Amino acid sequence: MRLIERTFNGAKGFDMRRREPEDRRDQLLHAALATLSETGIEAFTLAAVARRADVSPALIVHYFQDRDSLVEAVFRMLVERVTTRPLRALEADAAPEARLRAFVLEHLNPGELSSEASRAWLSFWGLALHVPALARLQRVHQERMISNLKHVLRSLVQPHEVNRLAETIGALIDGFWLRTALSSGWKAEAQIPVDWIFDLIDREIAHARLPAGARATRAVDTSFKTINPATGEALATIRIDGQAEIDKAVAKAAAAQRDWARTTGAERGRILNRAAQLLVEQNERLARLETQDTGKPIQETIAVDVLSGADCIEYFAGLARTIAGEHHDLGPGAFGYTRREPLGVVAGIGAWNYPIQIACWKSAPALACGNAMIFKPAELTPLTAIELERIYRDAGLPDGLFQVVQGKAETGQMLSRHPGIAKISLTGEVGTGKKVMADAAATLKLVTLELGGKSALIVFEDANLDEAVSGALLANFYSAGEVCTNGTRVFVHRSIRDAFLAKLKARTEAMIIGDPLDPKTQMGALISQDHMQRVLHYIELGKQQGATLLTGGQRFMTGACAHGAFVAPTIFTDCTDDMAIVREEIFGPVMSVLTFDDEDEVVARSNATDLGLAAGIFTQDLTRAHRVIAALEAGTCWINTYNITPIELPFGGNKQSGLGRENGTAAIAFFTQLKSVYVAMERIDAPY
Ligand code: NDP
Repeated sequence: MRLIERTFNGAKGFDMRRREPEDRRDQLLHAALATLSETGIEAFTLAAVARRADVSPALIVHYFQDRDSLVEAVFRMLVERVTTRPLRALEADAAPEARLRAFVLEHLNPGELSSEASRAWLSFWGLALHVPALARLQRVHQERMISNLKHVLRSLVQPHEVNRLAETIGALIDGFWLRTALSSGWKAEAQIPVDWIFDLIDREIAHARLPAGARATRAVDTSFKTINPATGEALATIRIDGQAEIDKAVAKAAAAQRDWARTTGAERGRILNRAAQLLVEQNERLARLETQDTGKPIQETIAVDVLSGADCIEYFAGLARTIAGEHHDLGPGAFGYTRREPLGVVAGIGAWNYPIQIACWKSAPALACGNAMIFKPAELTPLTAIELERIYRDAGLPDGLFQVVQGKAETGQMLSRHPGIAKISLTGEVGTGKKVMADAAATLKLVTLELGGKSALIVFEDANLDEAVSGALLANFYSAGEVCTNGTRVFVHRSIRDAFLAKLKARTEAMIIGDPLDPKTQMGALISQDHMQRVLHYIELGKQQGATLLTGGQRFMTGACAHGAFVAPTIFTDCTDDMAIVREEIFGPVMSVLTFDDEDEVVARSNATDLGLAAGIFTQDLTRAHRVIAALEAGTCWINTYNITPIELPFGGNKQSGLGRENGTAAIAFFTQLKSVYVAMERIDAPY
């Protein structure tokens, strides 16, 4: 692979010394591919290939006989190259929908869609019209792709829809290839068709999905395994809850909630306080479990994940007895008051990056306000929510008030659509937020949505440089970059760019990546192999689109990390606002550094996104700090630090990053409803 990149980058010669025959044949094929993409088919001669490979034409004849055979061999190599990774994606141990998406993504991998590879494809597509041997290869390649698509679609949609959908997706992939080739390579806009294919898959599968009973009864449909992403080892098999289990949980929760709503805030607070205490006592064991389930380093989970959850429960335990309505004086004849009442049964759906913290952030205010909560953790991190359920029970929480259900998106959807559930609080991607909101609309549920971000961190010229570098590192590499609020667009004033980058590079390269259970490890694994591929895909896009790689840029496989989902902390410089790595949430250790010249410009560029979760600035100028923060369109902001989220401060996003707020006293409003009461103190003055 490395050699292919070198040829594509224009290296002229190949070192043909000491090559074994197979190796040599491969080298000649790569030289032929590079020649073909550079000169086109017209000028493609054995002599040109020989010149590029720095060998005699006779050697090429020795291996390939003539030009046509060489062209055919190059085509075979290219076909094999573009099909290997998609096939591997199809064979992965994952749900059919995930395998289908990975298959599409691998076909449209920008590494393979480099302008050189695409140009070579274009030559072949033209030639296949006239050369029967190439036409046959082309046909087999396309038929194989359709047959692979059909195979995976059979376990997703009704039989009569399989062919139509496979042909459509196949045609879109081919068309997309062709368009990319004709427009000389991958550009930022090229992501749009990929998203479009994914939307089509979602729509069509939702429309033509197999009825539940007819779906293939693979183990993956009734249970799933949770994997330690640092080692690949399976940690547990989890049973998936279906409609019957959800109905049962809702009924049990509703029965328990009626009594819970009648207990005093003080009593609710006492139980929550005991739960917080148990979490603190069991911190070490729970942190270890969280590290195994998420791949995050133990030095983070032991200091933050469990303890911040306990902190949250303790905070809402204190608030429980303060929940109150208002009194309104309406003159001598009447007064009014409001009651803050619980909503009833509410549901929480969690993301995989802070599993136990998210479960606490959702359940603590819900329970403090007198609700029952049914919580679904992300499929990738199901373990610590089960522990939290046990801890609440041990703390004396009546049965049914906090129940964990397990499953994938379908289980989440059953919660969003359930008529017995009054509210959904989701932490997840923007796309999931939209789906949950649409599903909740059918029963007019309330929703709180904590969604994705692409936040800006601005470093002004007067910033304390070491502090700003610390902020940028925390804002990008903590939890291997899997933090929703991360400041992944780091805007640095042009005058301090070089000094900033020098410090940033040195400190990034000194980071310790390794076994997450080793207390010295500073950066652990990403959540899964699939997610790692997605992050690497964005890194490839960054390279393709012209960003300069300052450090990192590849999978990290040293020592204990050989089999895990590790990616080296990666920094791109010379980024521009239109690059995919600058526009889209990557959710991995990839920082984009951009430069700016003045305040208005950087504010406008920071706000030029549909997302608005967070933002941070580094400056010594207090007036500017508050002026800029006021102008930034983000729900959660920091001055001279980054990613600190104390429980006292409301947390949430603006624009498409979310609706509603978690934490702080603000959260109470999102887990209660108001009842207004008018009290008459005089006789009724009836005119009839
Ligand atoms: P997803 O949106 O993929 O999943 C979130 C949860 O929703 C999971 O439990 C998932 O189940 C479930 N789910 C998926 N589809 C549906 C559906 N149609 N109906 C109901 N539930 C559904 O997010 P990730 O887990 O991948 O988490 C990463 C994302 O979360 C990032 O975008 C990140 O920015 C965001 N996030 C936001 C935070 C915030 O507070 N603003 C904090 C942390 C993360 P399953 O996993 O089983 O498929």
